[in-house]
Amino acid sequence: MAQSRKIFQEQLISFMQQKGFIWGPEPEIYGGLAGFYTYAPLGKRLKNNVENKIRDVFRKNDIWEVECPTIMQKEVWKASGHLEGFTDPLIECSKCKGSFRADKLIEEKHDVVADAFSDKKLLDFIEDKKIKCPTCGSPFNKEIKKHNLMMKTTIGTGIEAYNRPETATTTYLPFIRYVDYFRKKIPFGVFQIGKAYRNEISPRQHVLRMREFTQAEGQIFLFPEQKKEWQKYEKIKDNTLPLWPYQMQEAEKDPKDTKIEDALKKGHFKNKAYAWSINLAYTLFTEMGIPKENIRLRQHTLNERAFYADDAWDLEIKTNSFGWVECCGIHDRTDYDLKQHAKASGKTLEALDENNKKIVPNIIEIAFGTDRPVFALLDIDYRKEEDRTILKLPKDMAPINVAVFPLVKKEGLDTIAQEITDSLTENSNLVAVYDGSGSVGRRYARMDEKGTPICITVDFDTLKDNTVTLRDRDSQKQVRIKIKDIDRTVKEMLFEGKK
Ligand SMILES: [Zn+2]
Repeated sequence: MAQSRKIFQEQLISFMQQKGFIWGPEPEIYGGLAGFYTYAPLGKRLKNNVENKIRDVFRKNDIWEVECPTIMQKEVWKASGHLEGFTDPLIECSKCKGSFRADKLIEEKHDVVADAFSDKKLLDFIEDKKIKCPTCGSPFNKEIKKHNLMMKTTIGTGIEAYNRPETATTTYLPFIRYVDYFRKKIPFGVFQIGKAYRNEISPRQHVLRMREFTQAEGQIFLFPEQKKEWQKYEKIKDNTLPLWPYQMQEAEKDPKDTKIEDALKKGHFKNKAYAWSINLAYTLFTEMGIPKENIRLRQHTLNERAFYADDAWDLEIKTNSFGWVECCGIHDRTDYDLKQHAKASGKTLEALDENNKKIVPNIIEIAFGTDRPVFALLDIDYRKEEDRTILKLPKDMAPINVAVFPLVKKEGLDTIAQEITDSLTENSNLVAVYDGSGSVGRRYARMDEKGTPICITVDFDTLKDNTVTLRDRDSQKQVRIKIKDIDRTVKEMLFEGKK
């Protein structure tokens, strides 16, 4: 199992490199630095499509985008708890002195979630299972060291500062401005899509674990009493989610499709606002085109929860390369952050509730990044069928919408193909490319690999009756349509069934 995963992983990563999705580790010509990657033209377009889906879903839920600085001074990170508590457990090889994350060493070899293990449990597990240094095969020192993940920098001549390890904290700081902007109406929601930095010790999972990565985190500010009376809940309570509550994780191997209302009654969710936030997270990922059968929602066990979290669920995606991968965390952060920053800044971070009582709002966050869903889409949709390699991306997410070919480059077929490409690009506002080299079969194959859903071929019949051949990537079915119907037909095929 692990072996077949590894083979798939290598194939996929080399595919991403060769076809122009993701390059790295970068900078390649200097030997590459682990944890840094370049999104090549097709990968960047896919990532933009993912991010625009996120913007779309948040917009429909009245959650507003902001952009905050990525570097902030030490005081901020001291108050947030990151300077003290944002660490990874490291273990050192007794011989080559290589350092590794103890929890990841365990997870790579055994099917357990180890990031909540105590230092002692990590050491015992490594000893019990005789886990050795992956570099030289020697045993490890019997000591766990704490490695802080914050990337330090200096502002001006002497202000100690850090690259943000998450967008969340920076999103919370303009709280007073938000209250003003939203005309003192609580609840309100904001989100940020932007870079964050973590000084991972030995990142080895491609873009799943980077030192510089893109986060997209939504933050709902609300009063504690609003959690129980969350009006938007009514609209989603009949939805079904693949839930795996922590009490079930011992007994049941798989999540169970559960109606949200039933989950709330059973006490899996503490309140309506939290249930609504979990549903929103699920919607984000299904809208991006992650298949439902590849998604599960796993509740954190009690000792797995972050130091500030009141309840926590993860959305996980099943990949061929790495198995189940955590892709989103939904946390009730309570009033922890605002209280911490009020104390450290000396400012009052409160709002008036309907009884004119001053209260520190709570925050529910939907924390995720955009690199992991991009990887997941490529991983899940990369297929080798009998005679072709095909990237079966959701049609509305593909980096290139349409490719246009002339059957041969003579008798004006190439001019017509070029005109159709230009019209699709300029008038239809789609990503269309022209390809005139090689056999048509070869050109179809190139487009299948890039995930392009539709190919249009201009041939000699076009000269007679103004029709072209339109070929569907998945079914490989071809139909003839009029040139004047291309725009409408293509858009239907790309976006049909989408709201
Ligand atoms: Zn070693």
